[in-house]
Amino acid sequence: MPNCLICKSPTTNPTVLKNGKTYHHCPNCDFTYLDPQFHLSPEDEKLRYDQHQNTSDNSEYMEIFKRFIETAITPYTATKILDYGCGPNPVLTKLLKKQNLEAEIYDPYYFPTKLQSESYDLITSTEVFEHLRNPLETLSHINQLLKPNGYLAIMTKFLPPNDQFASWRYKDDTTHISFYSPKTFTQMSLGLELLYHNDLDIVVLRKIN
Ligand SMILES: [Zn+2]
Repeated sequence: MPNCLICKSPTTNPTVLKNGKTYHHCPNCDFTYLDPQFHLSPEDEKLRYDQHQNTSDNSEYMEIFKRFIETAITPYTATKILDYGCGPNPVLTKLLKKQNLEAEIYDPYYFPTKLQSESYDLITSTEVFEHLRNPLETLSHINQLLKPNGYLAIMTKFLPPNDQFASWRYKDDTTHISFYSPKTFTQMSLGLELLYHNDLDIVVLRKIN
């Protein structure tokens, strides 16, 4: 069995679904990921992102972001904010601006800005982590960009109970390849501590070193 991409523990027997897709699960930290042979090519992945309808015209989507701001940004004191993995339409930063909060943006595909280490009080990453091939690499990049005691606020849907995984629609988006529970974020040994989670899709971590 391959070792977990987050905590390096051995994964369990892979789960093979009816469509043949194979998932690895880590019993130590819950991290679950699609076997790399089923990943899209980076070109096809980019094509899917270009077609994403996450614009400010979609009111359901705006409500999700408003809830994220109330839950994971407003409660924490932060003047320098970065939206990491903002995608082609940085909707979150527009919403933040309405609340007099400024955020810089970064996206490896759309806004590959060069960023300075230890610059930010708070980094948001919404609907990014389910797409990551190597989440630990991204987490250590984000960790470097955070000031000591800075916050990382992530939005990604948490895994359902094991017996509901096969019918869980979130995993069926072909670009969704990595799945977490709040426990996953406690097993990374990067110096990030779990401050808050809502049991559904939001987790807030703090850099403790
Ligand atoms: Zn693990």
